[in-house]
Amino acid sequence: MPDLPPLRDVIARHGLSASKALGQNFLLDAQLLGRIAAIPGSLSGEHVFEVGPGPGGLTRAALLAGARVTAVERDARCLPALIELGEIFPGQLRVIEGDAMQVDPVQEIGAPFHILSNLPYNVGTALLVNWLSADKWPPEWKSLTLMFQREVAERIVAEPGSKAYGRLAVLAQWRTKATMPMKVHRSAFTPPPKVMSAVVHIVPGKAPKGVSPAVIGKVTGAAFGQRRKMLRQSLKSLPGALEALETVGIDPTRRAETVSVDEFVMLAQVLGTL
Ligand code: SAM
Repeated sequence: MPDLPPLRDVIARHGLSASKALGQNFLLDAQLLGRIAAIPGSLSGEHVFEVGPGPGGLTRAALLAGARVTAVERDARCLPALIELGEIFPGQLRVIEGDAMQVDPVQEIGAPFHILSNLPYNVGTALLVNWLSADKWPPEWKSLTLMFQREVAERIVAEPGSKAYGRLAVLAQWRTKATMPMKVHRSAFTPPPKVMSAVVHIVPGKAPKGVSPAVIGKVTGAAFGQRRKMLRQSLKSLPGALEALETVGIDPTRRAETVSVDEFVMLAQVLGTL
């Protein structure tokens, strides 16, 4: 077991005062970090793509689990701390300084990988939607283990009819299995954010035939864009959608929040043939 300096010391030594603009809420508890890194299953010999390693808490946990980690960090102040960490785990850590929105992990890693991140709140949902929208399915990522604000995590795993159910639930679930294996109290973070958090775990499932991410995106965008309206109103602007409702046997007076993920898939299948 390598001798790792306490994360608090690393933060102090490198002057990593948390930046609100960069969504910096650090996790310092090694046990908690180990439990998060265990969610994808054994990482021994696996490739991991991490967004926002910061001072390297979750990175350590993945390295200790035997992963090879490629991490993208926007804050240049964190780089010296991460380089030090890489020296403790020779050949296991590669750090890219940059914006995760601009980095393609498939190109950087060139092998199947797990994505593991305590996501910066300002780009978390956009990154998730990108990863879920991969044209190739199953995608190059084997699993997503992601910390979100709890409210966002609940929207990802929500079931129809619940308040949290919406576009994000359908985009997340139509060809994956999405669960929320861990809730994390705000006091676990330094500094503590205003809101509670939770970890979401997503693994690719079988893609239904004849559905493209673009069509699912369009139909859920229209349906939930006016979620209080009946489908016959909210889908009016989408060519062919009212006929598709009839073909699939969905009552046009229903509201989007009552339409199951499977029903959205059937709608997208019909729309995709038009
Ligand atoms: N992984 C660390 C932990 O768990 O303690 C830090 C997590 S903190 C919530 C989010 C991290 O993402 C910060 O280190 C921040 O600098 C970084 N970050 C913010 N925006 C980013 C972006 N667009 N691309 C890459 N990293 C980003």
